[in-house]
Amino acid sequence: MNISTLQALHHSLHAWYAARGRHDLPWRHTRNPYKIYLSEIMLQQTQVTTVLTRFYDPFLARFPSLSSLSDAPLEAVLEQWQGLGYYTRARNLHACALTCKGFLPDSPEALYALPGIGKTTAHAILCFAYRQAFPILEANVKRILARLNALEAPSEKELWEHAWALLDRQNPFDYNQALMDLGALVCTAKNPSCATCPLSFTCKGIHTPTRFPAPKVKKTIPHHHRFALVLRQGDTLGLTQHTERFLHGLWGFPQSDTRPQGQHLGTVAHTYSHFKLTLEVFTCNASTEEITWFSKEALATLPLSSLERKILMLVAF
Ligand code: SF4
Repeated sequence: MNISTLQALHHSLHAWYAARGRHDLPWRHTRNPYKIYLSEIMLQQTQVTTVLTRFYDPFLARFPSLSSLSDAPLEAVLEQWQGLGYYTRARNLHACALTCKGFLPDSPEALYALPGIGKTTAHAILCFAYRQAFPILEANVKRILARLNALEAPSEKELWEHAWALLDRQNPFDYNQALMDLGALVCTAKNPSCATCPLSFTCKGIHTPTRFPAPKVKKTIPHHHRFALVLRQGDTLGLTQHTERFLHGLWGFPQSDTRPQGQHLGTVAHTYSHFKLTLEVFTCNASTEEITWFSKEALATLPLSSLERKILMLVAF
């Protein structure tokens, strides 16, 4: 792209952003690196509306700074993260807070070295908090770059090259925010609105936008069927702490592959990123697993996954 086309693209994109951008998002009104970092992590696998309406403010109310996060036990962070899923994000936030000792670094190398901070998150922190000229490459931006350049299967390296080439170094903050908004509102995955797009004058993919990038073949994920055991001892319920990587640290009802003797309370199901799980829930008298007993009050403070909460709804407790 020659320099005059690039300048026209920046001009058109900024004008669109000024008129149509999502200027009311709270993380766009702060330069606090921690608040920006938190929004980036929450938004990695969760929709903006969900983060905005249910999770961002309550998390900041409980952990207003990186130091408050490092002072808290991991369990408290996981508990606050409940409902957002992908708990590795919460564990990495906590690990990062412990490493940083209250201050997020302002160099790319130092940020890349932190747990759970990839290139895009690091660049978002550098650009939005420290006003440095770094491009970002989240899903919306990747799609725009693929379409602008008519790329069916671009590699990450290729996309980063395009991202750097297109970056507005004079106003990287608005440029990056504008591209993300354009991808969310105009250059959408299914029905891009090319007729209203400020980049249409230079887009190579405009005639067949949904070819770029080529749709991924959907993988079928395995579906597991197991049994959840509801164990009682007086006024307490017996739970175990998960050790699997993606639920590590959360508490849950013990599970078994064999049908237990006992009363059938119902069925719950959940789809994780890499498998589906259906659990038949039974009351049970004995278990060989390591159990910790919790009263109703104690249980209310435990970090539980969405699936465990569904089981809890079936239990008269
Ligand atoms: S012209 Fe269409 S395909 Fe190209 S960037 Fe705009 S919305 Fe996306």
